[in-house]
Amino acid sequence: MINDAKELKYVSGTIYSYSFLCDRKVWLSYHNLSMEQESELVEIGKFIDETTYKNERHNFLIDNTVNIDFLKKNIVHEIKKSNKQKQMAINQIKYYLFILKNHGFEDIKGELNIPKSKYTEEVILTEEDMENIKSNLERIDKILKSKNIPEPINEKSCFKCAYYELCYI
Ligand code: SF4
Repeated sequence: MINDAKELKYVSGTIYSYSFLCDRKVWLSYHNLSMEQESELVEIGKFIDETTYKNERHNFLIDNTVNIDFLKKNIVHEIKKSNKQKQMAINQIKYYLFILKNHGFEDIKGELNIPKSKYTEEVILTEEDMENIKSNLERIDKILKSKNIPEPINEKSCFKCAYYELCYI
């Protein structure tokens, strides 16, 4: 178990979120087999992200890997297009808060925004979250270092995944 934050190897927020869905997606995405750009669903998400709250944002790149949107009053925002992605977005926000905390930021919190349904939820980082995130990062690191691509998961979610063709056709 990693105890020192300096030993942690961060991945992008997107890859971190994938680790809750599919190890294979983590591996493929990290090794830059990026079919994401072709996915319409991803494009819609990006459009909302780029056009909402445009005037209030500050972009923050950590370790050349993690890109965080910081808005006013030390709040990290994550903007999603639908309620379906709620838990994934919360995991991602907690991950960002964790990284910022390790970089000396205090008194920060997160907020999930779903503009389509006018939904807002405050997100805070607990001690338990911090331990879980450390474990997740260790697990992700093992996936990424593996020479073998993890097996496809054969789940319903695969039909909407940008890597579907790569995995099954
Ligand atoms: S299609 Fe399924 S198995 Fe393949 S990367 Fe996507 S979620 Fe994982």
